[in-house]
Amino acid sequence: MEVLFLPGDGIGPEITAATRTILEKLNRSMSLGLCFSQEDVGFSSLEKHGATITPDLIKRVRNTDMTVLGPVDTAHYPPAEQGGINPSAALRINLDLYANVRPSRTINGLSARTPAMDLVIVRENTEGFYADRTMFAGTGEVMPTEDLALAMRKVTRKGSYRVAAFAAKLAAKRRKHLTIVHKANVLKLSDGLFLAEARKAAAQQDGLTVRDEHVDAMASLLIRTPDAFDVIVTTNMFGDILSNEAAELAGGLGLSGSLNVGDQNAIAQASHGSAPDIAGQDIANPVSLLLSTVLLLDWKGTQTGRNDLQDAAIKLETAIIKTLKNPDTRTRDLGGHLSCSDFGKAVTDTL
Ligand code: NAD
Repeated sequence: MEVLFLPGDGIGPEITAATRTILEKLNRSMSLGLCFSQEDVGFSSLEKHGATITPDLIKRVRNTDMTVLGPVDTAHYPPAEQGGINPSAALRINLDLYANVRPSRTINGLSARTPAMDLVIVRENTEGFYADRTMFAGTGEVMPTEDLALAMRKVTRKGSYRVAAFAAKLAAKRRKHLTIVHKANVLKLSDGLFLAEARKAAAQQDGLTVRDEHVDAMASLLIRTPDAFDVIVTTNMFGDILSNEAAELAGGLGLSGSLNVGDQNAIAQASHGSAPDIAGQDIANPVSLLLSTVLLLDWKGTQTGRNDLQDAAIKLETAIIKTLKNPDTRTRDLGGHLSCSDFGKAVTDTL
């Protein structure tokens, strides 16, 4: 079974290298039978192949077992006509990775704004307000005059139902509580459609408690009563914003994993960006990508019925948390002194 690493830009190569070292150790100690490979994406791909992501790479990712993608510095890419394509969006669209799974859990012993948060936000990943994924051709943003810009938001029956069905299934495996987040009181057609389909999907899952909240209320409730939530499902942009809020409340973006999931493929991806300001200094915190890799191993284990991969996910998560709890084995952003590579070694030792 192959794990494909796509290091990406900025701190991407450093955090993917740390992740790979740890996975290699886990693979040896648990005899998982994994093999590892690496391909260029982002600026290194632009230099070699003339585009930040190529059709060949998309095909390669489609056909591999598990993919770990480092952050990409899209803000500094040239225009698409010159090869600057957002690799993350291209993969999400081409592989139809319709659910973005973003857990936020407070880790005891680490400072967090909310002491009791343990929830998962499932964000719709292929539609919504994001101009690069709403149209068959062209983008969902237009500028009819120099003083007027319009953005189109796409909500489909199928997209809403499938992401909610995914979230409901996840809730059934957790504390059996699903919250549908929307703004159907104002966006009556688009969010009305999302809410109706999400309710239908949730009703198919036995034993779930289902509630719904307006997105503005939800932004407050995450702070006021974080422990009242288990799995939350919402549209693309609401999920993008709420998952960053939840991650920050639970200890910071650097501590939250993220998995992009479709029916056939999944890609582990850190929830932060490429941090160009600290790139190449070996001081980045690899925990977000590591926790994303935990989600990936668990997903593959569930998909293939391989309990050893699910056990590996638990073992890896336990080692990451144990390493983080010791103030002597933290990276600088968490008040520690370890470099990115030394943190990787500390997790490997803990394993
Ligand atoms: P960023 O997340 O890269 O950085 C924000 C701040 O957090 C910076 O101070 C950075 O040094 C710090 N930081 C981020 N990750 C860290 C880590 N692992 N360890 C320690 N410190 C860390 O956000 P930005 O500066 O707004 O974006 C930089 C680039 O990343 C942009 O091109 C943006 O488009 C891109 N981006 C990519 C992704 C992705 O690939 N999934 C996500 C968000 C942003």
